[in-house]
Amino acid sequence: MSDKLSDCPFCESADVEYRFIALHWVKCNSCGAEGPGKTNKRAAIAAWNRRASPAPAILAELRGLLVE
Ligand SMILES: [Zn+2]
Repeated sequence: MSDKLSDCPFCESADVEYRFIALHWVKCNSCGAEGPGKTNKRAAIAAWNRRASPAPAILAELRGLLVE
């Protein structure tokens, strides 16, 4: 399934959950970051995962720059 949630792009916590109150969205329980509100669950999860996926790569790149 594509319903798996990516870790939070801000704090890297895996404590993220899907929510639904009129709109569907994903929220991080660790730092409070929220994905965009969507009209269905699949879109909400896809939006969260899109936002989440590039961040770790960018963070890793920044860490690499700091180490060097
Ligand atoms: Zn977070």
